[in-house]
Amino acid sequence: MTGVEQSKSWFERAASATPGGVNSPVRAFAAVGGTPRFMVRGEGPHLWDADGNRYVDLVSSWGPMILGHAHPDVVGAARDAASSGLSFGTPTTGEVELAEEIIRRVGPVEQVRLVNSGTEATMSAIRLARGFTGRAKIIKFAGCYHGHVDALLAQAGSGVATLGLPTSPGVTGAQAADTIVLPYNDIEAVRKSFAENPDSVAAVITEAAAGNMGAVAPREGFNAALRELAHENGALLIMDEVMTGFRVSAAGWYGLDGVAGDLYTFGKVMSGGLPAAAFGGRADVMAKLAPSGPVYQAGTLSGNPVAVAAGLATLRAADENVYRALDANARRLGDLFGRALTAEGVPHTVAYAGNLVSVFFTEQPVHDYAGAAAAETWRFAPFFHALLDGGVYAPPSAFEAWFVNAAMDDAAFEVIETALKQAARAAAAAERP
Ligand SMILES: *Cc1c(COP(=O)(O)O)cnc(C)c1O
Repeated sequence: MTGVEQSKSWFERAASATPGGVNSPVRAFAAVGGTPRFMVRGEGPHLWDADGNRYVDLVSSWGPMILGHAHPDVVGAARDAASSGLSFGTPTTGEVELAEEIIRRVGPVEQVRLVNSGTEATMSAIRLARGFTGRAKIIKFAGCYHGHVDALLAQAGSGVATLGLPTSPGVTGAQAADTIVLPYNDIEAVRKSFAENPDSVAAVITEAAAGNMGAVAPREGFNAALRELAHENGALLIMDEVMTGFRVSAAGWYGLDGVAGDLYTFGKVMSGGLPAAAFGGRADVMAKLAPSGPVYQAGTLSGNPVAVAAGLATLRAADENVYRALDANARRLGDLFGRALTAEGVPHTVAYAGNLVSVFFTEQPVHDYAGAAAAETWRFAPFFHALLDGGVYAPPSAFEAWFVNAAMDDAAFEVIETALKQAARAAAAAERP
């Protein structure tokens, strides 16, 4: 570590130009303290900050960079597309190929519409579900994140959320009133909620496997039961695979558990690191979308040719070997967590959802947000900073999954192993506030 003077000075400038100095809150290190690193370059498994420090990156842009940074195929495809013009506002051939690639990979997806962010995908999927069913209510789960859509910001864990009131100022009671928030992995709560809200639930939206409270896999049978209950009650099941899609397998979480949603949302990996996302699913539902149907949805830059080229190149490069590497790297990382923390006597659980991996500072298995929040999260900040000092860029929050990429090599794992020894010591020495 050669110091962080440049990052510090950029963060000061940033803080006067933009609220909190960042364009997405978690980047500000609010939960862990210290100076957010301003990254200037990425290559393979590494990032470099403005002071010239190198890090092994375990965030991978929060998921997209499964091939590692600046993969030559992806950069080449984006460069070629860019030199032919950046945006036309017309149909293009690449967007058809990307849509076909998604449809080819994910069986239940018969049609897709491209958008610019995961938030836009879930927002549009919710509107479509409401338009298709003629119903208003949405069931979501505490600790599941579906972007910053007004109606989906409601989270349980606090009394306001339980009452269906907004948890963010700026979200009106009306926008949140149709959102029902239930504990994740609790199928009885879903059954009860359907009984209490007859003929009024348009959709259940769930992360196909939860990754936004740390990695929390659905219990055996949970997704299948959600599908069954939704259908018995005339509602749709929306599988949010923005995080898991094209990461945990070639077909995302669907490739692991085979439970078909009616609608899907995708983002992150399918964008190759540029702004692109999608929603899709059953053809009869998608047919309600303008211009073939009455549910309006649009976007000036949707299907942008450069973003589409990067996404397509990423998916085309993501073959069996890449998925094998992602799985192996996640296990290798999880094993290193386990070994380091056990050696220092730190209570912990290494949790997986496919190749998403997290460490919770508790010995209780975590199945929902309450479980994640009950862990000794005060151990996280010193753990995080010891990793950072040791050249490992980890997610700056105890409630995030860690994202491996296929470019990680033995040298990267050696850096992680060494840094983890210090980090485990720091976690052991942390004091309960
Ligand atoms: C990241 C994420 C989103 C939001 O995607 P953005 O591109 O950040 O708007 C939605 N759902 C899930 C499951 C995500 O992980």
